[in-house]
Amino acid sequence: MNTLETDMEMNIKKDIVVIGAGPIGCYAAYLLAKSGHQVSVYEEHAELGSPIQCTGILTGEFDKFNFPKDSFLVNTINKIEVYSPKQKTTIQQKDYIICRRRFDNFLADLAKKEGAKIFLSHSFVRKEGRQLIIKDLLNKVEKNISPDVVIAADGPLSPTAKAYGFYYHQRKNYYGIQATVKGNFDSQMIKTYFGNEVCPNLFAWIVPESSTIARVGLATTKNTRHYFDRFMQEHNFIALGIQAGTIPVYHPKQKLKKDNCYAVGDASTYVKATTLGGIVPGLKQAEILVDCINNNKDYEREVKHLRKQMWTHLQIHKILNKFSDKDWDSLLSYINQPKIQKIFESYTRDNPIPLVTKTLLKEPRLLYFTKYLF
Ligand SMILES: Cc1cc2nc3c(=O)[nH]c(=O)nc-3n(C[C@H](O)[C@H](O)[C@H](O)COP(=O)(O)OP(=O)(O)OC[C@H]3O[C@@H](n4cnc5c(N)ncnc54)[C@H](O)[C@@H]3O)c2cc1C
Repeated sequence: MNTLETDMEMNIKKDIVVIGAGPIGCYAAYLLAKSGHQVSVYEEHAELGSPIQCTGILTGEFDKFNFPKDSFLVNTINKIEVYSPKQKTTIQQKDYIICRRRFDNFLADLAKKEGAKIFLSHSFVRKEGRQLIIKDLLNKVEKNISPDVVIAADGPLSPTAKAYGFYYHQRKNYYGIQATVKGNFDSQMIKTYFGNEVCPNLFAWIVPESSTIARVGLATTKNTRHYFDRFMQEHNFIALGIQAGTIPVYHPKQKLKKDNCYAVGDASTYVKATTLGGIVPGLKQAEILVDCINNNKDYEREVKHLRKQMWTHLQIHKILNKFSDKDWDSLLSYINQPKIQKIFESYTRDNPIPLVTKTLLKEPRLLYFTKYLF
């Protein structure tokens, strides 16, 4: 290597700190370390991927990342049964069900193999000027660090984005609760239940790990426990274990960068507002962010196509939020038509733009629901 090449390489190497060792922080850390940066990840919990706060559904779009899945895959699904109060439809779609603890550890191991250092039981507590104060929770000592770049991958409440002053306070959060239950399930089928009595604003789910174990839950903006308990009772489920967590709704006004800090994943609200799935969009966003850091590109600009997808999910979410039970029944009867089902079966939920445009072309009566946008 000649001197110029060495200098160029030295120039791009940065001291980068990632706050939060969730899947998105670990994936960003892996890509950054692989690019030659010096990467440290600080995670407040003592274990990676614990407590689990996720159903672990990933669409077929996840294949694009080319990860070997054996270490974290629990089940593969090939259809989704959708219930409204009086209708039912079935859509053929491939989905993966993963174990979040094992998935987060898989990504953390990738990062470590590339040289990233992961500090567990270390919490970001505050910012003083350009310095970040990190607390070692076991030894109860604080240290000051001044990295070149900070990545806020610290989840829906992002203390880092708050400290940098770019957490958009009008963000809306959902609260999700789910239980692991025993029963008899079709191991290849997810069931979802829509309607204002079951789960206003979103849906309830039954997601099989196998033919005898499933993850059952729902998410709402209020009274989550009430709807969850009722759903469990109606299906005679007994919880073997309960998990709960906050899920942000994508907010177009959430900025992604301030000073030397970038937000990614739930910290930036990049979650599909229709399904509250955040893993695939967050992984995509991490790839864009790392390309921007490596090649000095504008993150807000480069993320534009992903932002369009998030925005489309948000518009659909706004419409569905105003649905009556009768609207849910009408929607399902439209989807039940073979010409519409075919479209639903050709696109993953991650990419709603062709899904919406092609569906509207085939079934213009769906335009009726756009009245709820105004
Ligand atoms: C009930 C439920 C079900 C879900 N189901 C799905 C699903 O099926 N599919 C899907 O795609 N998504 C699902 N989600 C959403 C998904 O869990 C998130 O989108 C995903 O975890 C986002 O990853 P992340 O790395 O951005 O954030 P997180 O996974 O939240 O990770 C952030 C990390 O930052 C750490 N942290 C926070 N503050 C600090 C601090 N001050 N210092 C140091 N570390 C800190 C946290 O401990 C955490 O480990 C679900 C969420 C819930 C709650």
